[in-house]
Amino acid sequence: MPEENAIDSGSMNDVIVVGAGLTGLACAHELQARGLRVLVLEARRRVGGVVGTGDRNGFLFESGPNTVPAGARHVREAAEKLGLSDKLIASNAEAKRRYLFKDGGLHALPDSPLALLRTPLLSARAKLRILSEPLRRFRPDPRAPEPTFEAFLTERIGREATRTLAGAFVRGVYAAEVDELGARSAFPRMHAMCSESGGLVRGMIARGRQARRARRLAAAPPPGPRTSATDLISFQGGFETLVDGYRRALEGSLSMATPVVEIDRGPGGWRAILESGESLSCRDLVLATPAPVAYPLVALCAPERLNLDALLHLEHAAVTAVHLGLENVDLPPGFGFLVPPDEQARRDPRTPGVLGTLFTSRIFDGRAPFGTSAITSMFRGGDVADLVGDGLVDRALIELERALAGYRATHPHAPAPTGAPRVVASLVQRWTNVIPRYAPGHDRRMEQLLAGCERHLPGLHLAGSYVGGVSVDDRIRVGIDVAATAAGRLSHVTGRRQEPTTDGATQPAPRGEVS
Ligand SMILES: Cc1cc2nc3c(=O)[nH]c(=O)nc-3n(C[C@H](O)[C@H](O)[C@H](O)COP(=O)(O)OP(=O)(O)OC[C@H]3O[C@@H](n4cnc5c(N)ncnc54)[C@H](O)[C@@H]3O)c2cc1C
Repeated sequence: MPEENAIDSGSMNDVIVVGAGLTGLACAHELQARGLRVLVLEARRRVGGVVGTGDRNGFLFESGPNTVPAGARHVREAAEKLGLSDKLIASNAEAKRRYLFKDGGLHALPDSPLALLRTPLLSARAKLRILSEPLRRFRPDPRAPEPTFEAFLTERIGREATRTLAGAFVRGVYAAEVDELGARSAFPRMHAMCSESGGLVRGMIARGRQARRARRLAAAPPPGPRTSATDLISFQGGFETLVDGYRRALEGSLSMATPVVEIDRGPGGWRAILESGESLSCRDLVLATPAPVAYPLVALCAPERLNLDALLHLEHAAVTAVHLGLENVDLPPGFGFLVPPDEQARRDPRTPGVLGTLFTSRIFDGRAPFGTSAITSMFRGGDVADLVGDGLVDRALIELERALAGYRATHPHAPAPTGAPRVVASLVQRWTNVIPRYAPGHDRRMEQLLAGCERHLPGLHLAGSYVGGVSVDDRIRVGIDVAATAAGRLSHVTGRRQEPTTDGATQPAPRGEVS
């Protein structure tokens, strides 16, 4: 990737975006489309933040996200705007099957009421509790503090199903435990759906109806491949294709290897101060960095009465991802598996010591050379802190072999292995401070922080993944929303400058124009 430097110290930018992860890229792209002069300052030598795809001997390994749901509207729309609709790909049919590891075996997650009745993952009592959920109306107490996701779900579907099914699911999404997250903060749509319809099952039925109606009324199908609601999507070449599309669209506005060390109010707006001491001016400034980077930047320029505790005390998951390219292994058909927390707590030597493993070559075509397989195993950072390099690769392989033994235990007709799997490519990534934990009360704390910021620091926009959700689709949505807010504030600038193009969009003014 060519190094870019778009810095023109003398000129006033409309907006400076700090951080070229997905949030910053989506925000900058939208600002540019709205006719604003934008400069993106990125600390690293590449764009994308946690998103990126590495090629190791023909295996495509995703450093961050591997999949988004087929209904991820903002991802599809971003692909269309960037001319990448034809690069969107849908998951293979077999990826609908997901496994949980329990009692020494790999079991398919139930995907229908009948499968729920038959699954060995839950006791008869737990199944009855789930099936009776529609009969118990959900009546949240608006004065009570936000419950944990565990407490909320336990009230609905009982403790066993919550710990087993949701406990595993939460590990897959947030790399967190089910009692560490707030029901409303971490799963706002599910919570709203349940509140509005009086229950989870009622809510799902209502949502399904709404989605079918919306599809019928839609003027055009969404960009990209036709999919069913349970499919997943990605890009040919992985998510790097998306961030590379943004990089190309923002050419001339990106400055790489440019960490911002301070921000300050300046004449006519804001200043971003670089390591070199150089100071760059803008009218509005968007911070699209994680909370641990945003906090010291904001703290230095915020008045004392602006309480920044919500940023300071936000906890994050530490995740180590081990990607393996393998020969001589027949992965179970499916998306991959998760390990429920209580299963791991039992310390059964048969249980894999991972949060979960994705069978990436099963999910999408083109992720591994013909006849080989690819997996990504996620460990809690602390569990493998003492392992490095080959030690981690060996550990991931051992955990995979445990899972494969578990699959054979529950699927006696599965083909017997013809020897041990061989690692022919690998990549290890340790992440800290990238997946924030939306604990109970997080949403209200963030609302207050954003309101305080608007009042005391006008023109500064907090856009990191501590607001609005952590998924790829959420990050693009937040980036676009923040751009719309900034463009609204700066409408006097765009009003003077932008010229509508033939398709109704606006064209950015040439760089260097003085407004
Ligand atoms: C391992 C993993 C797997 C995931 N899997 C999925 C998935 O399958 N599906 C899904 O929907 N989501 C997934 N996510 C979540 C999603 O990918 C992230 O939430 C999202 O990409 C975060 O984007 P961001 O731009 O907000 O932050 P980041 O990607 O963290 O970007 C922040 C950027 O700011 C830059 N920066 C930091 N400090 C400075 C500074 N001082 N000056 C300038 N720049 C700075 C950083 O270098 C970085 O480029 C996953 C996340 C991880 C970590």
